[in-house]
Amino acid sequence: MMQVPLSIGSMMEHAEKFFPKKEVISQTHDKLHRLNYAEIGQRTRRLMSILDELGIRNGDRVGTLAWNHHRHLEIYFAAPGMGAILHTINIRLSPEDIIYIINHAEDKILFIDEDILPLIEHIHTHLTTVEAFVVMTDKTELPESTIQPLYSYEELLSTGDPTYEFANDIDENQPAGMCYTSATTGKPKGVVYSHRAIVLHSFALGLKDTAAISESDVSMPVVPQFHVNAWGTPFACTWFGSTQVMPGPRFTPKRLAEFIERFKVTITAGVPTIWLGLLKELQQGDYDTSSLRAVLCGGSAAPLGLIKAFEEKLNIPFYHAYGATETTPLATISRLKSYQQGLSTEEKYEERTRQGILVPGLQMKVVDEKGEVEWNGKDMGELLLRGPWIASEYYKDERTKDAFIDGWFHTGDVVTVDAEGTIKIVDRTKDLIKSGGEWISSVEIENAIMANEAVFEASVVAIPDEKWQERPIACVVLHEGFENKVTKDDIIEFLKPQFAKFWLPDDVLFFEEIPKSSVGKFLKRELREQVKARYST
Ligand code: ADP
Repeated sequence: MMQVPLSIGSMMEHAEKFFPKKEVISQTHDKLHRLNYAEIGQRTRRLMSILDELGIRNGDRVGTLAWNHHRHLEIYFAAPGMGAILHTINIRLSPEDIIYIINHAEDKILFIDEDILPLIEHIHTHLTTVEAFVVMTDKTELPESTIQPLYSYEELLSTGDPTYEFANDIDENQPAGMCYTSATTGKPKGVVYSHRAIVLHSFALGLKDTAAISESDVSMPVVPQFHVNAWGTPFACTWFGSTQVMPGPRFTPKRLAEFIERFKVTITAGVPTIWLGLLKELQQGDYDTSSLRAVLCGGSAAPLGLIKAFEEKLNIPFYHAYGATETTPLATISRLKSYQQGLSTEEKYEERTRQGILVPGLQMKVVDEKGEVEWNGKDMGELLLRGPWIASEYYKDERTKDAFIDGWFHTGDVVTVDAEGTIKIVDRTKDLIKSGGEWISSVEIENAIMANEAVFEASVVAIPDEKWQERPIACVVLHEGFENKVTKDDIIEFLKPQFAKFWLPDDVLFFEEIPKSSVGKFLKRELREQVKARYST
């Protein structure tokens, strides 16, 4: 067979050739843009020539601090397309972490959204490797700024070469992208993606039994482009010629709902917190969402109540998927097998709250201290993954040795596997609650509490206990109108029929808000502190 390298540039070339009329609809601070792939391709070529002129060479890191929009999409292809590395930076991290990430990755140039400029002005004296800054503004004039050299994206592009060629004759194992996980403890950890990994992962997103992304889709990634490449959807959608709708900076549930109706979005992807917000909006307003064929939900466990609300109240198909920064990210997705269609409605929901089965192309093992656990839906073990889009190390980081062992990525996620091979995440290794020598899954209790109609959100954390070692405490946010009407006992009574007695939380604390990480996940470390503070006052 021919040895043709898999390259990101060739994905954009494909879109230019075969889907020149298909559109990318993009909201920026000031306006809505509509560009087709012929235009996006040409702008990407101009950008590659500019990067070249600015001294960016093979292997150099091109950092981005930006929301979801067409300019960010162009850099997705321009940086790897000319042999450099796209480094998307999570803008919601602390300034300290952002400084660490930029210096650690040794970014040579930064592309910044206008509203992020003040942050960069604040930290730029600490950046040791950055030689140039580009503001991705709609305005013709650059904002006043203390940082230099500062360029305007559109001005640079206007002088770029629209015929600049993609560097497709590369080693497919060459780095194409980088992303740091917002590790809940310690400094963020960097993951480097190869061209090969991104291309193969894009194929996987197109499979009918995964996300089934295709030309006929109108895809709106809500998961940020700075979070695991918006789960790889911009790469796959461009390659396959799907219409893309980029919701832009600081979007609200209202904007998402309006965009779904206006642009007839067929598929969208994001974390459960986003969908909780959208659900509220869709229930309050009168929106036509009939175009939606799939809401993909991942990043943390999708509660049963959320899946049911989307499907039963709104008639919107909802899919639960699982992955991580280290897995590019799609690793498993929950879909019923053909012979499971005959299960009862409740059994089907039960199955679909699990994280699903492994995507073809990957391998998995679930191990405890004795070895591989049985696929009986009960025995818990850590999920290990391996495959062409699973990372093999953390970038220049000693923690590699803790997570990448004998060719397997140790996910830190504790799961059970049933006879169908369906995994269910019961916890992160560090969030499992150990009580009297037995494990309690915080996630299972959370999901059960969130199925209560009075509850908006729930998170369960451990507190130290002299007798039992640790005990679960439930932290609950009630829906509007239920405040002061639901008590600790109501929640415990609700849980009683569902759990062994020792699993029941010792206490239920009511909160106005559960602290969340930069990507919308429950921040349990912070929550434990808040719980501790409540008990000490
Ligand atoms: P971080 O949360 O540290 O920023 P990632 O975004 O890479 O890093 O998160 C990956 C982790 O998110 C997984 O290891 C897992 O714990 C959790 N996760 C992802 N998808 C799901 C899901 N569908 N259900 C439960 N947990 C999930």
